[in-house]
Amino acid sequence: MQGIAERVEELQKNKTNEEDKKQPKCFICMDTGIILYKRITSFGYEAEYAARCTCSAGNQYIYEGRECKDHKSEYRIATIDEVLDKYELAQNNFQQWIAKSREATNHEG
Ligand SMILES: [Zn+2]
Repeated sequence: MQGIAERVEELQKNKTNEEDKKQPKCFICMDTGIILYKRITSFGYEAEYAARCTCSAGNQYIYEGRECKDHKSEYRIATIDEVLDKYELAQNNFQQWIAKSREATNHEG
């Protein structure tokens, strides 16, 4: 799990301002392919989980442990469909993105 979170951070850092202004192909994951979300565990603390998006960017994160021949494991990355309301998420991301791009335009003009 830690590896994925680090990778997402790296992707976000590498984004230039120019790329920020471009409309993402996918508002669910903002083209990162992965969505981090927080859940309260049965132990009562908040833990961060990752779910992969169902778009092409998310396909690179497909990890079905049970289908691995060499290292059998029950571990897999859930798809966003299984854990969150992706339409709500996309809507929130879209609104944030619109607000951000408007702000950027105002600074320029
Ligand atoms: Zn996506």
